[in-house]
Amino acid sequence: DAAREPGAIVAAVERIADRLAEEREYLTELDSAIGDADHGTNVNRGFRAALEAVEETDDASAQDLVQTVGMTLVSEVGGAAGPLYGGSFMHASGELAEGITAESTVAFGEAFLEKVRDRGGAEVGAKTMVDALTPAVHTYKKSIEQDDLTPLAALAKAVDAAERGVDFTLPIRATKGRASYLGWRSVGHQDPGATSTLFILEEIHATAEE
Ligand code: ADP
Ligand code: MG
Ligand code: MG
Repeated sequence: DAAREPGAIVAAVERIADRLAEEREYLTELDSAIGDADHGTNVNRGFRAALEAVEETDDASAQDLVQTVGMTLVSEVGGAAGPLYGGSFMHASGELAEGITAESTVAFGEAFLEKVRDRGGAEVGAKTMVDALTPAVHTYKKSIEQDDLTPLAALAKAVDAAERGVDFTLPIRATKGRASYLGWRSVGHQDPGATSTLFILEEIHATAEE
């Protein structure tokens, strides 16, 4: 019901911010192996600021709140992941104009993925967040549209798919982002951005479960 949607968005952002604070060192450790050791700090700072921004916003719709999250991530986070996550939240927020439904959340996921791919130019297999996001979005869509699952059950499937996507990043060579500078030396390391994508999806699922 529409009156509860803004509260659910704030709750999700709070969960994500808390989770990324807990995982800050872990994500930074992953980024220190194949990047510049700031991914945990970047997403933690970004979502902390996003939480403050949505908590200060009264009377906003779900769409407005998600737009605020995106704008805050873009302005607060300098690294690759800030504009990718932020720009995608901004772009996809438009899909929530009519509220949060099974259909609108499928459209949200697709728009989000489309923006990440547009901006970053990474395909599946480039060892980026796209490797977690793509199977998650496809699985969510299929679970809703073909398997007739509830959004909650579909989100659980999407989380499982993202988890397999994260595992898939470990043995492959990076061809986008900083990790690509390492070439073959990036093999054997898990991608930090795919990992933060999984954590974000897990917290969205946990919020939906409440
Ligand atoms: P930076 O690399 O600028 O320090 P972060 O450390 O915050 O930024 O984010 C790194 C993550 O961003 C990577 O692990 C990867 O998942 C993601 N990433 C980097 N470049 C791209 C890209 N071109 N497309 C999609 N994701 C990317
Ligand atoms: Mg980095
Ligand atoms: Mg950096």
